[in-house]
Amino acid sequence: MSAFSPFLQAATISTNAIGFWDAYLLFRQRRSYNTTEIPAYFKEKVTEEEFDKAQAYGRDSTSFSLLEHVKGLVLSNVELLLRVPARFYYYVAKRTGLTVGSFAHNYTCAVAADVVSIVLDTPFSYYDTFYLEERHGFNKTTKMEFVKDIIKSFLLRIILLYPVQTALIQFVVRQFGERFPIYFFGGMTVLMFTFMVIYPNFIMPLFNKFTPIDKESPLKKKIETLCATVHFPLKKVFVVDGSRRSHHSNAYFYGFGKNKCIVLYDTLLEQMKESDEPILAVLCHELGHWKHWHMYINLSIALAQLLGISYGAGAAVFNPRVYEAFGFHHTDPVVGMYLFLEVFFQPISALMGHVSCYISRQHEFQADRFAVSQGYGGPMKKALLVMTKENKSAITPDPLYSAMTYTHPPMLERLEALDVEMKKQK
Ligand SMILES: [Zn+2]
Repeated sequence: MSAFSPFLQAATISTNAIGFWDAYLLFRQRRSYNTTEIPAYFKEKVTEEEFDKAQAYGRDSTSFSLLEHVKGLVLSNVELLLRVPARFYYYVAKRTGLTVGSFAHNYTCAVAADVVSIVLDTPFSYYDTFYLEERHGFNKTTKMEFVKDIIKSFLLRIILLYPVQTALIQFVVRQFGERFPIYFFGGMTVLMFTFMVIYPNFIMPLFNKFTPIDKESPLKKKIETLCATVHFPLKKVFVVDGSRRSHHSNAYFYGFGKNKCIVLYDTLLEQMKESDEPILAVLCHELGHWKHWHMYINLSIALAQLLGISYGAGAAVFNPRVYEAFGFHHTDPVVGMYLFLEVFFQPISALMGHVSCYISRQHEFQADRFAVSQGYGGPMKKALLVMTKENKSAITPDPLYSAMTYTHPPMLERLEALDVEMKKQK
């Protein structure tokens, strides 16, 4: 019995260290919403009532995140200390009579574990959608739609994700033995690119309706002019019915090479219906991401991370002591991969998460500066203020929490940076 194997110890310590650190960050953020004083910059732009509403939403949603986080941490500890994954793995084999480590066994475990996590998570997402978001006026989803979404994404995982993932791991490890990491990396890279094509074109339309923007609308003409000025290879502009689920607004583009599509949320168009300029500013910001190669930078980071995962997993997959530490008596590559990701990669990915948030914020500033360079500084500020109000974004976020977890800079920082940039332009 290796009750206190160093691997198990390391896993327990890192899980809890990261868990408590994240809880501490959330706690700080929760506290920051108690601020009743509107920051000077927003005094004339946000009413007392709007500010109070945003603070109340932030307070509620952070309390909920904290609760969800604690649930996750408790579950992780139970799993580690009682070796739940191993018990589950052998239980499935015993009940179904499937050969341990076979494709069918691994696949059945994945599907069964998925069902368990749906059962554990759904009450939380139900509360989040129909109580929390509802109370603050964001939710537009019906209960029927909510159930349909869960079923659709479950089907996608059991039809596409699990079979491909299991088959790939088993194939490369059997075929290439200890040299498998580079082949796994190659296979995953191909899958990643395939997914990037399939996702916006085939998967997203399963959840939302994408309608090409009205050909004759003046907005479309302005979008085309803007794209032409910055040489953006625009193929199509879509409006997505984001309002079907939520009041939150957004815009993005996708596609490789000369096949770029722009997607605008109908909520964004609705919130900024008074004038096209702020919409064009948001779009121009997105074009800034394209101009500065942000998609390719992010892709390179993801590939570097994947390479690290491949070689790291290579060290875990053939080490029987790793398996024993978590209660497994078989060296099964799919399990080895899982143990590596869940246990050893977790602290690295927590750290990487903080770093990538920082990079992402720098990209946002850069994209904002691009919007200013195209003459959209003023409208960009207008758009940010509208979105702050409509999305009830944090106006007084905790500095440490935002530095560690925000992919977008706090509104105040963005608005001030826009002011600085606009002054430089003059
Ligand atoms: Zn952006």
